[in-house]
Amino acid sequence: KLVIGVLELQGDFFEHERLLEKCGVSTKGIRQRRHLLDENGKILVDGLVIPGGESTTIGKLLVELDMLDVIRTAVAPPHCLPVLGTCAGCILLARRIRTFDDQPRIGCLEVEVERNAYGPQIESFECQVQNVQVFGEEPLRAVLIRAPVITRVLDSARVQVLASFRDTPIVVQQDHILACTFHPELTGDTRIHRRFIEIVKQNIAVERRLN
Ligand code: GLN
Repeated sequence: KLVIGVLELQGDFFEHERLLEKCGVSTKGIRQRRHLLDENGKILVDGLVIPGGESTTIGKLLVELDMLDVIRTAVAPPHCLPVLGTCAGCILLARRIRTFDDQPRIGCLEVEVERNAYGPQIESFECQVQNVQVFGEEPLRAVLIRAPVITRVLDSARVQVLASFRDTPIVVQQDHILACTFHPELTGDTRIHRRFIEIVKQNIAVERRLN
C-alpha cells in the first residue's frame, strides 16, 4: 500500500489525511525530520502533501525543525519525491513570491505567486473550475481562502496549467509536483488527490536514499 506523508506542522492536514484514506492509501503525519527520513537516509514515504494554512508559519517551522533541506533535496532530481501543495502549500513550493520574496520555502515549482491576492473584501469564496480532459465532465468546486494567485509561469515548457480561473492558473503540474491555489480537501471531491496518487504510482520504483 502506498504511504503518503502529510506535513502536520500547521494548517488543515487532517482533512487531507481523511480524503487520502478515502482514496485507499495510507497516510503518515510528518511533524519531525525522522518521520520523513530514517537513520540510513531513506525516505519513508512515497509522496508528500503540504496543506493549506499559513505559509510563513509552516516555512519557519520547517527551518526550525531542520526539515526544509531534506524536503527540498527529496523533491529535486534524482529522488523526485512527488509532492502536492495546496494553497499555502502552493506558496511553499513556488520559486518566486511577488511581494516579500524572503520567506523560507521549498521553491521547486517554476511559478510566481502573489499571496492573498484576491483582496480582503473577498478573502474566501468558491468557484468552479473545469478541464474535461483532466478532470472529466463535472466541474470541480474550488474553495479559496485567502488564496494566492499564480501570477506567472516561469517555465512554460515544464509547468502544465491544468485549470485556470479568471485567466490565471489555479491547478498546475510540473512533472511530479502538483499544486493548486484552493483547498481540494474541503469539498469531499477526490479528483485532485487521485491525480496526485497517480503521480505517486508512476514514481514508486525509485529507491530514495539521501546519503
Ligand atoms: N494566505 C495564506 C498564506 O499566505 C494561505 C491561505 C491558505 O492556505 N488557505 O500562506
